[in-house]
Amino acid sequence: MNTTMIAMGVAVLAGVGLVVTLGVLSLLSGGLHFLFARPRVEILKSEKGETGFAFGFKWNAAREPAKFNRIKLRLFNPFGSPTQVEKTVEFSPKSTNFAEDFDMAEAMKQILECDRLDDALLEIEVMASKEGVTHYFSMKVRKFLEKVKSATQTAAEFNEANKVDNSKPVYTIPSRSFIADPLPASNKALKIATNPEFAGQFQSADASAAPQENFAVSKVWIEDGCIVCNACEGIFPEVFEVTDDTCLIRDGAPLDDGLKILEAAEACPTEVIKFNKVG
Ligand code: SF4
Repeated sequence: MNTTMIAMGVAVLAGVGLVVTLGVLSLLSGGLHFLFARPRVEILKSEKGETGFAFGFKWNAAREPAKFNRIKLRLFNPFGSPTQVEKTVEFSPKSTNFAEDFDMAEAMKQILECDRLDDALLEIEVMASKEGVTHYFSMKVRKFLEKVKSATQTAAEFNEANKVDNSKPVYTIPSRSFIADPLPASNKALKIATNPEFAGQFQSADASAAPQENFAVSKVWIEDGCIVCNACEGIFPEVFEVTDDTCLIRDGAPLDDGLKILEAAEACPTEVIKFNKVG
């Protein structure tokens, strides 16, 4: 009994420990992401003179695939002078960590010279206008000025340090052609009907033969076996009449065109057309 109770207690403790461990890991994971993975803007050393403003921007491009192309500086100084300053600069879209250095001219001059530094607030907006994404960073103007004065890294150095290889992979595609290779050289001419060298070979066998002389027949008749296919009537309807069950020779059929009767006889599939030549 005591052993069972101890085992159950250990199991409960182990379960609670597992839940607590997972909770702590989850919190740590979220905290790490909050601290290190969220977008950050760094104030850099400008090379554009006294009114220059250089910044670097880092974010998780895999989580947020936006192309940032605009930055805005906004001064809110409700109790001092000037009370408000705003300056927006556009640049070519950047899809990975990047830095830029701009001459903000009069706007930067006003920010640098504003009073009530501990009350004035400076807001930096980094925007991806196409995707509609904006990240806001705000700080007291005093802190901003401290960062500007103490910055040592330039935009060029930031970009070098955060270099991302954006070159596209090169794929090699083997060259293929669907056009057949030319036939090997040969002295043989191609045998086609339009080739004058072989035109004679494509002529009908009878074409070169002397025309067959017509003849008359004395009698035409049909023997048993007609399958009423109509071939004979189609060739010489004046002589042959195909009925429902056989073929007949018409009364008064012309018998002077023996060639045509011969043609019908040769076309007859059952060879039941017979005739006698005159003489
Ligand atoms: S061609 Fe021959 S089989 Fe056909 S209908 Fe004429 S006689 Fe009959």
